[in-house]
Amino acid sequence: MSKKQFQTEVNQLLHLIIHSLYSHKEIFLRELVSNSSDALDKLKFLTLTDESYKGVDFDPRVDIEFDEKERILTVSDSGIGMNETDLEENLGTIAKSGTKSFLNSLTGDAKKDSNLIGQFGVGFYSAFMVADKIEVTTKKAGENEAWKWTSDGKGEFEIEPAERDGHGTTIKMYLNEEGHEYTNRWSVESIIKKYSNHVSFPIYLHYEAVNMEGEGDDKKEVRENRIEQINAASAIWKQSKNDLKEEDYLEFYRQIAHEVDEPLHYIHTNAEGTLDYSTLFYIPGKAPFDMFRADYRPGVKLYVKRVFITDDEKELLPSYLRFVKGVIDSEDLPLNVSREILQQNRVMAKIKSSSVKKILGELETLKNKEREKYNSFWKEFGIPVKEGLYQDFENREKLLELVMYKSSKAEGYTTLAEYVERMGEGQNAIYYVTGEKESVLRNSPLLEMYRKKDVEVLILDDEIDEIVVSGIPKYKDYDLKSVNRSDAAEDLKSEDDKEREKNVEPLVKKIKEKLGDRVKDVVASTRLSDSPSCIVADENDPTVKMHNLMKAMGQGANIPDFKPILEINPDHEIVKKLEGSSDDSLLEDVSNLLLEQAMLVEGVEIKDPTEFVGRLNRVMAKAI
Ligand code: ADP
Repeated sequence: MSKKQFQTEVNQLLHLIIHSLYSHKEIFLRELVSNSSDALDKLKFLTLTDESYKGVDFDPRVDIEFDEKERILTVSDSGIGMNETDLEENLGTIAKSGTKSFLNSLTGDAKKDSNLIGQFGVGFYSAFMVADKIEVTTKKAGENEAWKWTSDGKGEFEIEPAERDGHGTTIKMYLNEEGHEYTNRWSVESIIKKYSNHVSFPIYLHYEAVNMEGEGDDKKEVRENRIEQINAASAIWKQSKNDLKEEDYLEFYRQIAHEVDEPLHYIHTNAEGTLDYSTLFYIPGKAPFDMFRADYRPGVKLYVKRVFITDDEKELLPSYLRFVKGVIDSEDLPLNVSREILQQNRVMAKIKSSSVKKILGELETLKNKEREKYNSFWKEFGIPVKEGLYQDFENREKLLELVMYKSSKAEGYTTLAEYVERMGEGQNAIYYVTGEKESVLRNSPLLEMYRKKDVEVLILDDEIDEIVVSGIPKYKDYDLKSVNRSDAAEDLKSEDDKEREKNVEPLVKKIKEKLGDRVKDVVASTRLSDSPSCIVADENDPTVKMHNLMKAMGQGANIPDFKPILEINPDHEIVKKLEGSSDDSLLEDVSNLLLEQAMLVEGVEIKDPTEFVGRLNRVMAKAI
């Protein structure tokens, strides 16, 4: 018998589980049953597809036994089982990538953390919340030796040869104080019903029934051992909607999403016709912790004729819908479908595209009928959905109806359709401003003219907005125009505005000379009212934000410095006074300051702050 050390991360995790998850201890049972169900799925699949397993005696089931006096709880399955190597790898390490970042993402808030742990699927170790010692006795299907893994969850485990009748795995838990309540028929049964009712294999509970027999003085206790199936064991997604209640859907969600909370919405489809398939999708209430990681876990499981095929296939839905959880079950795919086949399969492609249409359609309905709910959906999942605008050309029209933005005029979020509805007469474009901070954008000088003319501007402050929106030229018949660009204001200017711009041209020319190659151009613009100047990007140049983004993405070396167009407000007092001045050094200082203050407001770094301060002080000295 040899003692082995747990991998460091396992110890970390064990510590966390034991110390932070008290409020949800009961989930250990869901996790163990879920592992058993996976093990049964794996063996079922092999017996159906692999010749060498055809002879295996397979009666798929989970059995739960308890001993109240000895405080022992046992969960047993007739699944695929594990050999010595499996045991060491599966129950000594955490094989999944992203463990470290997962551990870092824990908040210390027990409720949130227990959800995270469920999502991450570190299930087995949660049994140490309720047990001082655990023995796992297991035999792999098709092999002869059985093995026993033992640990008290304190840094070490042991593996030794053992005896077991058939293939499968038995988890024997020596319960601690906390775990005592699970040696009780009613509590086990209610937990299984709550979390695992729709596990597709039967779960049997073994218990001792106590009856009183006889009359009067002859009355005596009769004890009898009974075995009873305690779950429904039905593939809920295959049932008719009419036979299912809200609670059935919620309970199945808790089971597959490892969630305690309710989903925001669910979508159940039973399709018959050219293709037979069922799908049951859930929109979670909260974004999964790994939604923005490249190695996120896909939320949708694939079944073929009720046989579990995979839960590790990211192509089942497009990646912008990666937060959707649920099941796809096809009657038309072969059981031994490989990943390669899956990705080029016509049946799969059709199911996928109908599923996407269905999900987007339901979201649209949610938006129209339950706006509050849709708003909270958007808060959690707006960013991935926006990715769809450049990933999914086919559904772009639909997605454009789903996107929402903040706005200079409306509270909360507004849709493009709502913007168009509010548009004044003669307006034929949708205006938006992009940048990093909502508060900065709302107060940006770029918006002054729009405010004055009562034109609504959408506030796009998500990192992804700039990239996405620049690829969308139009919504219906309306051009989307960035206020950050030089040409956007042109169509709002009156003849009078243009006249005033023309009048300051001589000054504009002088300022341009002074600024030299710090700017791409200097122009007069009546779009400003309170500010003397602002910077914009040329029609075909990247905007400030795009520029920063490209630098951050490591393209820094190849990108020339951002050269803005400086716009001067002909009606501003500073500009007017400057027109009447013949002080050449003042002109030089003020020209530079007009540029630098506009850069600061837009969040662009000033290369030489010392020079900036020097100029500022010279001008102040003259003014006082
Ligand atoms: P997860 O189930 O998310 O992979 P666990 O820590 O619960 O994480 O389990 C780790 C691994 O141990 C599983 O992936 C599986 O390979 C193996 N395992 C756990 N329980 C069983 C079981 N009852 N039968 C066979 N293998 C099991």
